[in-house]
Amino acid sequence: MKLASVILDIPTQALDAPYTYAVPEGGDVRTLGEDPEYGVEVGCAVLVPLGSTRAVGFVVGIRDCESDEAGIDPAKIKPIIRAVSRPYFDEEGAACAQWLASRYLAPLSSCVRLFTPPGGVPRLVRNAHGGLRLEAPAVGEVDDRWVVPGPALTGYAPRKNAFKQQAIVDALRMGEIRVAELSAQLGGVASALKALQAKGVAVIESRRRFRSPAGGGPASHPGDRAAASGGSRPQASARPELTPGQARAVGAIADACAAGDGRVVCVDGVTGSGKTEVYLRAIEAVLENGRTACVLVPEISLTPQTVARFRSRFGDLVAVMHSRMSAGERYDQWDFIRSGAARVVVGARSALFAPLRDKGIIIIDEEHEGSYKQDSAPRYHARDVAVWMAARSGAAVVLGSATPSVETLHACAKNPLWSKVELPERANGRPLPTVEVVDMAREFGSGSRSMFSRSLANALQEELSAGRKAVLLLNQRGFAKFLLCRDCGFVPECPSCSTSLTFHERGNFLMCHHCGYRVPSPPICPECGSPYLKRFGAGTQRVEDELRALLGSLPGVGEGVPVIRMDADTTLGKGAHERLLGQFAEAGAAVLLGTQMIAKGLDFDDVTLVGVINADTQLHLPDYRAGERTFALIEQVAGRAGRAELPGRVLVQTYEADNVAIRAAASYDRALFLRAELPKRKMLGYPPYVRMANVLAWGADEPAVRACAEKLHGDLLGLVRDFRPDGSGWSVLPAAPCVLAKLRGTYRWHVVVKCPPGGDLSGLMLPYFRSRKAQRGVNVAVDVDPVDLL
Ligand code: ADP
Ligand code: ZN
Ligand code: ZN
Repeated sequence: MKLASVILDIPTQALDAPYTYAVPEGGDVRTLGEDPEYGVEVGCAVLVPLGSTRAVGFVVGIRDCESDEAGIDPAKIKPIIRAVSRPYFDEEGAACAQWLASRYLAPLSSCVRLFTPPGGVPRLVRNAHGGLRLEAPAVGEVDDRWVVPGPALTGYAPRKNAFKQQAIVDALRMGEIRVAELSAQLGGVASALKALQAKGVAVIESRRRFRSPAGGGPASHPGDRAAASGGSRPQASARPELTPGQARAVGAIADACAAGDGRVVCVDGVTGSGKTEVYLRAIEAVLENGRTACVLVPEISLTPQTVARFRSRFGDLVAVMHSRMSAGERYDQWDFIRSGAARVVVGARSALFAPLRDKGIIIIDEEHEGSYKQDSAPRYHARDVAVWMAARSGAAVVLGSATPSVETLHACAKNPLWSKVELPERANGRPLPTVEVVDMAREFGSGSRSMFSRSLANALQEELSAGRKAVLLLNQRGFAKFLLCRDCGFVPECPSCSTSLTFHERGNFLMCHHCGYRVPSPPICPECGSPYLKRFGAGTQRVEDELRALLGSLPGVGEGVPVIRMDADTTLGKGAHERLLGQFAEAGAAVLLGTQMIAKGLDFDDVTLVGVINADTQLHLPDYRAGERTFALIEQVAGRAGRAELPGRVLVQTYEADNVAIRAAASYDRALFLRAELPKRKMLGYPPYVRMANVLAWGADEPAVRACAEKLHGDLLGLVRDFRPDGSGWSVLPAAPCVLAKLRGTYRWHVVVKCPPGGDLSGLMLPYFRSRKAQRGVNVAVDVDPVDLL
């Protein structure tokens, strides 16, 4: 007898171990049940009995039943009813799903679901009589009907007056055609086609149609094109001669691929250094070796232009996966990948789990981006998953960024499998733009009340009146309000956490959301005595209004200059992002005003000015990574200026002109930043010197949430004490409200657990969370290796 391990498609923690079922006799030879197409294999969905009812699950393993297997009584094992899908993933995928579940303390079903096709899996629904009915996914393949020449076409002459038949015959003599196209041209064609079919003149065939992603470019119908042209060869785009830095990077990646032991190469290249060309060359080599490539790009940078750069080199071998595609489009791309015809997948975070076989390289562009961490279960980090996958399959990982994360830099220094290649110059030899820090405290001191400094206003006037473009960044990651002294720039901070205190309007107090420290808001600046303590946080709309007024007042500029605003509100619709960028590209003088989403990937020749309106807001987010984020953001946005012939300049407005993250970014001096940042992290116990888990509790009833968090704290403390009586680097911080203490009507508390870098945080907590009884009304989730503690 064969046994199958099945993960039930029910997302609760209580069910969180694979269940064992018997594989029915002959069940693995595709002869089973109502649907003879499917057999029970690893990766397929199956229908199983569960108590008195039934459930859908996924097979993650099949083994021979050993009679002495502990806890298994062959007589009691129920058989799988039948397979209800073909395999979605292979054994490696099954292993990855189980690893994800234990590493990120996530429900197994949520991890398996990463590997299933977009648009869903078969599920059981109740019918009107209370019985269960299996429902197929709403999204699947779509077929087109084609008319192709039949054996009797040559020499066939339709009867006089049979105009439609004649038109169809004429069309068929030119080649195959879709039924839909014929009807579009001729109106109803059903009876004419029927007649032609009966005479053997035409044959109707069903053919798979691939829905094309929005703006997916000419090669977005892989199946169609392959069918129409017998598999077209990709047309190679021009391959520029590599710069010395690029050549070194390509060489290092080739070595890592050849080593085949999961090496990681960080491509540390300034903005415009040509990292994409490095990726393209590396992929070429991998394809030549018969393996495949997976390229991850932050969702927001996954524009048609980005995809086009890969398509122009690899043509129809490229599949694209991102969340702005419709479910149908994603399904088709997924299926195209599974067919083996796609050799390069370009996509957002979850593209890692697409059914791409034999990955030889995984490339993560802009690896420092927080969006590589998923913020719902399973809370995985794409970088860590890629490293795990690569180590298992002997692939190489490439991490590209102008501002690699502190963790990556640390790993490059410590881990023999990690290395770093620098690309210190732009590919076109142009210098990086100069960055000027504008001290807003001084501006304010000299009487200005505008959010635009005089330097920025002057620079806008100079560039716009000369017909050039400006990009203005409004740093919006400052949703937590904080106090800031407009005279001296002082921001109240927690004495023991090195993060700014969050201002609470109700009750007028300041609070640290890591440790719970709380003080009344000071009426005047504790540092200089000034009464101008300002609360921070301004919306893009207001900034836009002020900007228009400013432009209207500038000689030689005027109100006519287009201001294009890009933020969460203006980029909601499908294609809105591209449309706004298109407007900006087509305009002469224009200003692009936006949030973080404009910091990356923009490549416009005539942008000569970049302004950061408020570099501080992010700096004062009560989070240990605030400095790192500020440094990265300034470097990234600065990189949008002066990319071509015209030199660029950058103005960074800040009330904290002395802050080391800002000074370091302005002088492109990462070493300066790290010299200040690393000792701070080490002393306060933050990554990369510790590993953390953020245990979150949330619900509508605050006392219950709080009590739950306090119980979690007590239990986890007990666990850690039993495990490490001497502490030795393990700690559990007291339960405290999250920075986002209330979110859409739910209260949020958290408990932070820390351990030494190599510590098995998940291993310690997993049994506890697996067996923990769920509490009514309070949700609990664990975020292992969180990217922030908000
Ligand atoms: P990054 O991603 O490092 O910011 P890009 O990959 O966008 O940089 O490249 C910046 C520009 O340099 C692009 O227009 C690209 O076509 C060009 N480029 C890249 N490599 C070379 C090269 N070897 N020679 C000339 N131009 C190059
Ligand atoms: Zn002050
Ligand atoms: Zn604190």
